[in-house]
Amino acid sequence: MTVTPEQQAEIDALRAQAQPTLRATSPGMEAHLYRAHPVLDHGFIRVVDYMGDDSAIVQAARVSYGAGTKHVSNDEGLIRYLMRHWHSTPFEMCEVKLHVKLPVFVARQWIRHRTANVNEYSGRYSILDREFYIPAPEQLAAQSTVNNQGRGAVLEGAEAARVLDLLKSDANRAYDHYESMLSQDGQQGLARELARMNLPANIYTQWYWKVDLHNLFHFLRLRADAHAQYEIRVYAEAIAACVKDWVPLAFAAFEDYRMGGVTLSGKAIAVLKRRLAGEVVTQETSGLSKGEWREFEAVWG
Ligand SMILES: Cc1cc2nc3c(=O)[nH]c(=O)nc-3n(C[C@H](O)[C@H](O)[C@H](O)COP(=O)(O)OP(=O)(O)OC[C@H]3O[C@@H](n4cnc5c(N)ncnc54)[C@H](O)[C@@H]3O)c2cc1C
Repeated sequence: MTVTPEQQAEIDALRAQAQPTLRATSPGMEAHLYRAHPVLDHGFIRVVDYMGDDSAIVQAARVSYGAGTKHVSNDEGLIRYLMRHWHSTPFEMCEVKLHVKLPVFVARQWIRHRTANVNEYSGRYSILDREFYIPAPEQLAAQSTVNNQGRGAVLEGAEAARVLDLLKSDANRAYDHYESMLSQDGQQGLARELARMNLPANIYTQWYWKVDLHNLFHFLRLRADAHAQYEIRVYAEAIAACVKDWVPLAFAAFEDYRMGGVTLSGKAIAVLKRRLAGEVVTQETSGLSKGEWREFEAVWG
């Protein structure tokens, strides 16, 4: 279950009590505030708080007194300029605080992004829920034969059933033992901080994650990308959908220059120029390595 009925009631109560404010608000983000967006089988992301909007970026860039400029087109042009030229500090003026429920193995990848503030649910203090990520059938795939860091063909039939059964039974057995090890009536039991250590990496954890927009874009660039593991990519995509509504101008610039754009090396630009001049360039004559050539051809081939 993504959120329990009690948790949903708390979210509904928060959304029912609007308060007037003098601060800048983003109508798109207000629509997301507090709501849980389901991700994977039991996870979610939800915006708990945010600061700033597109105008805040413009305001900071100009160090102005008012709210951005009077013309949206001016704001858009400036934001695109800032993004294009890696003038990143104005984007740091916007912040977002998310509540995320995610499997522990996804959290391990996520926590590598150091430029955020994190507070995680304590397995020393609380008993973890019996909730495990079990991949949907279409995500239950074999090791890729071409990419060491990826998955290949989807498992089918008896093999899919065998793997699913192992995933489910191992998780439940480990949780049964976790429960039986904890302090209970009539037993001394083991401390929660120790009993948790045999739980599998697909158990769910939760955290509050606060990050500024510049570093969030960096996270999204890496984790909403096709090369990222599916299980973290779906979280990045859910966050991206909120960011799009929060700061539509900044997000459009990010999509264009970062997600949609490519960085060219000096050698690659030279190859491009030779090609435009009509020369037939091969990997051997390009000066690019095989890997570089493959990536170059994927864009320009
Ligand atoms: C597809 C993919 C595969 C990956 N595979 C692996 C892997 O096999 N093994 C592995 O260990 N990791 C792996 N990673 C993690 C990766 O190496 C980064 O740790 C992760 O993406 C976080 O990026 P970051 O450090 O740029 O982000 P952040 O920690 O948010 O940092 C953002 C930027 O701030 C600056 N910064 C932050 N902290 C410091 C610091 N202490 N010193 C200097 N500059 C700093 C850097 O410029 C950095 O780029 C992988 C990531 C991806 C996306």
